[in-house]
Amino acid sequence: MAADAARQVVVVGAGPAGLLLAGALRIGGAEVTVLERRTERATETRATTLNARTMEIFDELGLLDLLGVPPNEPMGHFGGIPLDLSGVDSRYPGQWKVPQTRVEELLEKWAVEQGAQVRRGVGVRSVRVRSKFAEVDGEGLDEPMRAAYLVGCDGQDSTVRSEAGIAFPGTPATHELLAADVAGIDIPNRRFERFPAGLAVASRRPDGLTRVMVHRHGHLAPRRIGAPSFSEVAAAWRTVTGEGIGHGEPVWLHAFDNAARQAERFRRGRILLAGDAAHRQMPVGGLPINLGIQDAHALGAALAAVATGRGPESLLDAYHDRRHAAVRKALSTMRVQEQLLLGGPEQDPHRTLIAGLMAHRSVRHELAAFVSGLDSQEENDAEEN
Ligand SMILES: Cc1cc2nc3c(=O)[nH]c(=O)nc-3n(C[C@H](O)[C@H](O)[C@H](O)COP(=O)(O)OP(=O)(O)OC[C@H]3O[C@@H](n4cnc5c(N)ncnc54)[C@H](O)[C@@H]3O)c2cc1C
Repeated sequence: MAADAARQVVVVGAGPAGLLLAGALRIGGAEVTVLERRTERATETRATTLNARTMEIFDELGLLDLLGVPPNEPMGHFGGIPLDLSGVDSRYPGQWKVPQTRVEELLEKWAVEQGAQVRRGVGVRSVRVRSKFAEVDGEGLDEPMRAAYLVGCDGQDSTVRSEAGIAFPGTPATHELLAADVAGIDIPNRRFERFPAGLAVASRRPDGLTRVMVHRHGHLAPRRIGAPSFSEVAAAWRTVTGEGIGHGEPVWLHAFDNAARQAERFRRGRILLAGDAAHRQMPVGGLPINLGIQDAHALGAALAAVATGRGPESLLDAYHDRRHAAVRKALSTMRVQEQLLLGGPEQDPHRTLIAGLMAHRSVRHELAAFVSGLDSQEENDAEEN
């Protein structure tokens, strides 16, 4: 550890990436403090699926004993085309249904049990980097906090990333999916159903709420501040499916867009990035939360070794090299999925071609490995060695 740093590692953000990283750092013997702006854990609906690679990581870190065995769904999809995930080369094939709120509760309990400090109510506003330490300041801190290494796990609008001057290039939103959880409606379940005017998804949950998601072909994503109104979602639903849901009671509304960005570097000196702070993507196929957990896992062991003086700094550059390449590949494949899913009738020939290719075992296997987070096997092997 640098001589002037009061702490070995400060992590900004107690989402899935920050919390998994904190526990992994402790397992590697490093001291870590997590600073989180929210005073309470988030309760909103977000990701719902863990993939096979994430389950392998949870197993390795001893988290499965705490999680138990979640419901498993062997069928996934690639760009909305059904894809059987049960044959992938993993002890945990398929998609594991765990709400993000439960993932965060579990990870925070585990990280604290490993000895991580989680300080809530601290909103980081500024980052300074000196030769021997990095320093953060902000709301909820009596004085600036120093650490040998600072990790931004503070989500897609990352303060750490922008304060460190790390560029976040990519492509802006062009398409969007409107989403709502609605009470008091009775419509058929639909799994990525394509209509001439767009795409519709409906799924009735045991609590009686129905999650609807709808995309209108040819409708460009507007610049939005906040969630769409329910009348906008209901109008889009009627345009696409012909069904009326406007009499229902919305309890959650959201618009997902297809903006895609990746931080130019995942490391700049004493600053590192992981999770949504390092990449932004549409949550097609449930990849974002899993990518972030996989970043945090790759960084945990490397940073623990460097921060405790047991490993060379080059391990941190290797983290950048490995995860930057893996995320770049994931974003590019997600772009294909997004076009298959949200594209209009002009995508039908591509969908027919890919569905035909998916009849071949080797193609199915390759795509199932991607959706399961197992495609970069070389990278996974390197992490384990
Ligand atoms: C409505 C919605 C639905 C989603 N659905 C899916 C899905 O179906 N599948 C999927 O894979 N993903 C989905 N996602 C994306 C998924 O939630 C994210 O990929 C995941 O949360 C990223 O984890 P993270 O730890 O990188 O960042 P986050 O979960 O964003 O955590 C960042 C944390 O940092 C804190 N923070 C931010 N700034 C500061 C600061 N300056 N100081 C201190 N703390 C700070 C925040 O309060 C937050 O707790 C969804 C997201 C949303 C919003």
